[in-house]
Amino acid sequence: SSPFPPNDGKSEGIDAQDGNSIIPISLNEEISPNLLQKMVHNALVWCSLHGLVVGDKNNQRSGKVPGVGIVHAPIALLPMSFSQSHFRQACELAPIFNELVDRVSLDGNFLQDSLSRTKKVDAFTSRLLDIHSKMLETNKKEEIRLGLHRSDYMLDAQSQDILQIELNTISCSFPGLSCLVSELHRHLLSHYGGDLKLDSTRVPENMASTRYADALAKAWKEYNNARAVIMIVVQTEERNMYDQHWLCSILKEKYPFYLCAKTLAEIATEGKLQPDGTLLINDQLVAVIYFRAGYTPNDYPSELEWSARLLMEQSTAIKCPSISYHLAGTKKIQQELAKPNVLERFLDDNDDVMKIRKCFAGLWSLDDSNIMKDVMESPELFVLKPQREGGGNNIYGDDVKQTLLKLQKEGSEELAAYILMQRIFPTESPAFLVQGGILHEEHVIAELGIYGAYLRNKEKVIVNEQCGYLTRTKVSSSNEGGVVAGFAVLDSVYLT
Ligand code: ADP
Ligand code: MG
Ligand code: MG
Repeated sequence: SSPFPPNDGKSEGIDAQDGNSIIPISLNEEISPNLLQKMVHNALVWCSLHGLVVGDKNNQRSGKVPGVGIVHAPIALLPMSFSQSHFRQACELAPIFNELVDRVSLDGNFLQDSLSRTKKVDAFTSRLLDIHSKMLETNKKEEIRLGLHRSDYMLDAQSQDILQIELNTISCSFPGLSCLVSELHRHLLSHYGGDLKLDSTRVPENMASTRYADALAKAWKEYNNARAVIMIVVQTEERNMYDQHWLCSILKEKYPFYLCAKTLAEIATEGKLQPDGTLLINDQLVAVIYFRAGYTPNDYPSELEWSARLLMEQSTAIKCPSISYHLAGTKKIQQELAKPNVLERFLDDNDDVMKIRKCFAGLWSLDDSNIMKDVMESPELFVLKPQREGGGNNIYGDDVKQTLLKLQKEGSEELAAYILMQRIFPTESPAFLVQGGILHEEHVIAELGIYGAYLRNKEKVIVNEQCGYLTRTKVSSSNEGGVVAGFAVLDSVYLT
């Protein structure tokens, strides 16, 4: 008997629980090699038939030409056990974080002041702040604001609290593929779950791609120009292109408007700002700009790309994210928000403040001399993070200490490029990972991402919701968790 109605991924559905039939996934129960082999085969066929795929890094053209060099996405064979109450808690935080980002984005001085020391030593953040200052100087107002965020969490083994790793406000990946992983796991469990004593309906439905598409469409509607298009800003090469194609495909099927995909360089050469502030790309009016690029310095190899970013920001097009939303999602702002009495400036409801604070891990800036002493003694308990996105940039273990010593030598200014975070240690569990068609049995830890969508037009909040999830599971000995970077696999959850 299913604890949820089959078509409900919302928190109410997840809440309804019959306590008896819960069997957490445990690989202590023997799975016969024969069954495993069948499941892997079935999973690989399913991925190929249903587009749960990425570009193969062994094929040079796989990031440029769709349909060439395709490989199944790295996946966990079975969903990750996760307690229903923690999952629900994470889902409930999404609308509060959406609201928080919006409120923070309106406080231009807070963003500038908090990032002022970082600005001096981090050229990339400095460029973003320059665009932001220009908008402040011209008193540019974003009346229609669209946020498609993903807040990531790990379950801290010791405290059994879900703690936020970070909040992404730009280019959140996997709204497309995450839905497919949930579907794949439901499929596998409905076929083989009987043998494993697992119930497929315990994998909550995941509607991230549809909900993201709906939010983009609603933003387009608010812009209120039937001839305008949605533009997706893409990288010149993208092995995760099928995740984006999923979202675009839903939009194309469901909605009347056109989509175009452009790189920053193309936008710079084809884009034009009209006197009324509207943005034309090749004479095509743009209503909504959805960024799947522009979050890393690599996306700005020359001044051309920066001019595109500025052009878009100056326009009346709805930017997802605007420069303020982008900055509100930086790690430095995450750390500033964790200081005493800062959340209270932005959130009116005390309960909301408490809920958010409960998921904050220890966060410090490096001018905090008390914490520096602790770090030098036990660097393995901390993570050192620069203002970067996309995985692979953090510093762990003894490197934390070595880096801090080096930075201190270079002068304390350099320290402002980083924040310091408590290292979270989730419980390890055994899992089956499938990568490149090969099954690996590993000890893993999981990171749960909750998608959020927010749309408002002046005082009217049109969308503010949790809209799906992503689990990324990685080998516990690995520090970072990027899927495309090859550190982790896509996963879903099995609610217990
Ligand atoms: P990015 O914006 O590059 O994704 P993250 O803050 O998400 O930066 O860090 C990348 C990865 O590093 C995460 O997915 C997670 O696996 C690991 N990580 C980050 N912060 C912590 C932490 N405090 N404790 C343990 N692991 C962390
Ligand atoms: Mg990030
Ligand atoms: Mg991350």
